[in-house]
Parts: sequence; C-alpha cells; structure tokens
Amino acid sequence: MGRRKSKRKPPPRRKLIKNMEKQFNCPFCNHEKSCEVSLDKRKNVGRITCRVCKEYFQTPIISLSEAIDVYNDWIDACEQIN
Ligand SMILES: [Zn+2]
Repeated sequence: MGRRKSKRKPPPRRKLIKNMEKQFNCPFCNHEKSCEVSLDKRKNVGRITCRVCKEYFQTPIISLSEAIDVYNDWIDACEQIN
C-alpha cells in the first residue's frame, strides 16, 4: 500500500483587488487625482508625479506592488519629513 508523500496544496488564491486606481490626490497641492503612478517592474521602481505641482517621488517596488502602494509610500515619506 503506497503512501503518497506529496500533498497537493490548493493553489494560492489571487487577491481580488479591484482597486486599480492609478490617479491619486496630491498631498502637496491637494488637487484631486492629479498624481499619476507608473510602475516599472523591470527596474522595480515605482514613480509618482503630480501633474499640477510637479512633485515627484520614487520608491522601490516588488512585482506584487500596485499603484496604491507607491502612493502610500509617498504619503509615508511626506509624513516623515513633516
Ligand atoms: Zn500636486
């Protein structure tokens, strides 16, 4: 009677993140949805720029990072400055 060594794990469920918003409110000039995020997954860099006040921020990302993560990093960085 053979025992199976390998247990089959269920595949990890992909998180259902519907929030694919890529435009955010600017913490500097307070314009709504003026900040645009670009994710460079080859260089693992996320960039966010405000098209109103030209504020710019760059942060390292991982392959799972979303635009919102870059934005959150930016907000964190802003709070650290203040
Ligand atoms: Zn701005």
